[in-house]
Amino acid sequence: MKILILGNGQLGQMLGKAVIQQGHECVLYSDRLDLVMALGSQQPLSMNLAEANEWADVTTWEHEHLGEELVAKTADKFLVQPERFNRLVDRRTQKALCDELEIPTSAWKAYENVAELSAILNACDHAVVIKSAKGGYDGKGQWRWRPGDDIAAVAEDAGQRPGIVEDMIDFTDEVSVVGARSHKGEQRCFPLTLNVHTQGILSYSLAGAEHFSKELEALAKEHHKKLTNALDYVGVLAIEFFVVGEGDNQHLLVNEVAPRVHNSGHWTMSGANCDQFNLHIRAITGLPLPDLLIAPTLMVNVIGVAGIPEALWEAAAADCHWYGKEARPGRKVGHVNIMIDSFERGENLASSWAEKLQLLVG
Ligand code: ATP
Ligand code: MG
Ligand code: MG
Repeated sequence: MKILILGNGQLGQMLGKAVIQQGHECVLYSDRLDLVMALGSQQPLSMNLAEANEWADVTTWEHEHLGEELVAKTADKFLVQPERFNRLVDRRTQKALCDELEIPTSAWKAYENVAELSAILNACDHAVVIKSAKGGYDGKGQWRWRPGDDIAAVAEDAGQRPGIVEDMIDFTDEVSVVGARSHKGEQRCFPLTLNVHTQGILSYSLAGAEHFSKELEALAKEHHKKLTNALDYVGVLAIEFFVVGEGDNQHLLVNEVAPRVHNSGHWTMSGANCDQFNLHIRAITGLPLPDLLIAPTLMVNVIGVAGIPEALWEAAAADCHWYGKEARPGRKVGHVNIMIDSFERGENLASSWAEKLQLLVG
């Protein structure tokens, strides 16, 4: 089959490799440069977007912030209905969809402008996170506010564009479920993954070490199934959750939904028989989804540093991925997967490696 991938960043590249591995062809569209490229190439192909779309049997994407114009130009080759896809792109409609499906999410209110945001904050008696409705990633486009903080300043800044005001959640952990749905409605999810963020950026993920209860795992998969079924979704979709409560009261609140492969699924490149990229390509090309076999794995993001230390390249248990991007503080430039034998070992390794692999501020 011929596959057009929208986006030419690291996720697009990793999707492209899975396309080739499975014997298909792909081209990647750089939405930043408005150019079509071959996998691994910096040189544009002679095709433009319209020709690439014509060429393709199926179009997929590395991120959901494509913009209405690009979606309109390419959606005839999407496997997900564009109206349904668009519901996930805007935090307001995404949260409303969770409410409609009774999938618990942090309490939220939408605002359109400075005046509406000021009014919400004036009436608010608890800490909140303010988020732009569209386009944010790695914690960009977010503001924290608590009673006593200045309202005018934050409203003037955040209220320039529509967004949501969300209750600040006192979570015990952040987790995600990454899973695929096929066109026949089959579902395969990787195990619940623990995600630790620093300054809004994913620092590391740990999975497969049976850290979470069976009930919590099952709940995450149930929410994933409900959401993907409701959207008649085909491909990999990730849900980020906050874990709240203790013991029998432990449950999940959706933080956000990403209709695509996800950073918290990168560990599957070393810790699963079929990684998230291959799972996605299998789903969108109509192959059956395999049962997933898992080995406990730690993924540490490489952020803002100029390279991965020699010691990691040389370590047998480490699988290093470098994205070929220029290093800037706070920018993800690679990741390292390390096989682990226990959750505790994973956490210890994570904190020691995160220090060496991550430069968040300049
Ligand atoms: P991503 O790169 O995952 O797409 P994003 O910019 O879309 O990130 P969120 O996932 O909404 O942003 O938030 C980033 C991080 O900020 C979360 O992983 C969490 O650590 C923290 N955070 C966000 N919302 C809340 C909340 N309501 N309560 C507490 N912490 C929050
Ligand atoms: Mg996000
Ligand atoms: Mg997030």
